Amino acid sequence: MALKVPIYMDYHATTPVDPEVLEAMLPYFREHFGNPSSRTHVFGWTAEAAVEKAREQLSTLIGCKPMEVVFTSGATESNNLAVKGIAWASRDRGNHIITTGIEHHAVLDTCRRLEKEGCDVTYLPVDRSGLVNPVQVEQAITDRTILVSVIAAHNEIGTIQPLAEIGRICKARGVPFHADAAQALGRISLRVDDVHANLLSFSAHKLYGPKGVGALYVRNARPAVKLIPLMDGGGQERGRRSGTQNVPGIIGFGKACEVASRVMAEEAERLTKLRERLKAGILQRIDGVYLNGHPERRLPGNLNLSFAGVDGEALLLSMKDVAVSSGSACTSTRMEPSYVLLALGVGGELASASIRFGLGRWSTEEEVDYTIEKLRERVGRLRAMSSGWPGTVERMANARQASA
Ligand SMILES: *Cc1c(COP(=O)(O)O)cnc(C)c1O
Repeated sequence: MALKVPIYMDYHATTPVDPEVLEAMLPYFREHFGNPSSRTHVFGWTAEAAVEKAREQLSTLIGCKPMEVVFTSGATESNNLAVKGIAWASRDRGNHIITTGIEHHAVLDTCRRLEKEGCDVTYLPVDRSGLVNPVQVEQAITDRTILVSVIAAHNEIGTIQPLAEIGRICKARGVPFHADAAQALGRISLRVDDVHANLLSFSAHKLYGPKGVGALYVRNARPAVKLIPLMDGGGQERGRRSGTQNVPGIIGFGKACEVASRVMAEEAERLTKLRERLKAGILQRIDGVYLNGHPERRLPGNLNLSFAGVDGEALLLSMKDVAVSSGSACTSTRMEPSYVLLALGVGGELASASIRFGLGRWSTEEEVDYTIEKLRERVGRLRAMSSGWPGTVERMANARQASA
């Protein structure tokens, strides 16, 4: 079969909707269009029953009770609800939040806003592979701490955190534990009791569901976690998220969870192999390439590499027929290095010349091999054009050793 370009290799940014998911959604745009809050007729009952089924499908995947699932518009909202909701509800008990320097902006910027409202936030450092040290979490907890929030699996570098250890510490100290699990759900095994989480944020479009729908898991335990809602209104979702539910979206999310329950183990194995093929192929054919993130504790389909001696922007632009991304932000004048890679201690030049590869459900060996070959060609060409190469590689290798 002929290879089709452009190749999609950015499954951490979003995923296509699985055909099975789309099929499940369609009737809820058409004949089953009812409002789940309509209590007086079958249109409402049908929609409500379908939403409750989706709640069960998600709760089966993460091992919780259906009543502990709050549907939202996505992981951004779930993160906001978890962090602001707790901070606002805990004003009489404390104002200290512990998080990490590598969180998604939905947590990071929420914390920054709360700082303006008088919260104290500790941004824990991570090691070279992106791991948070649970001992540092423990040491940071004070009697004013109201929340610990740690990204479960990282969207840029793929690193999977020791959630169970962090969760155990939080539980022992009586501090609510939240994890942004948008990338973890459906990719790696995640059970609420294994990780001792009080709150978990999810997004459907990261696991082959539709965009604009997500969920927050809220543990129903004593003492109950108090959350002040972001939205006031009709009191849907047990009062935690007012607003008519996105019924087709929720049905799709539920179906995506069911599919993940079925295929996750096998898919993870296949994607890990494919990722290792991509990594080995690139490292064998191109000099001066460095892995970012943890060699093993990472999401199956994730690879993040820095290319010494090439301009980050030129590198991305040269990869037009392979859709990959860079953690670096393109400003009008230059590439701003990724804050995540900088937090790992990666130097500015290497942090600006990084590529995140995200493999997923429809990635193939042919696509991986094509990408390796294109990279070899284009990195070679870019380096030939830049006068600094190969001196740059030696300079960077020395800098890395010095910083190790
Ligand atoms: C995608 C993502 C989000 C945001 O999710 P949306 O549903 O797009 O709002 C938050 N955190 C992480 C780790 C993500 O990967």
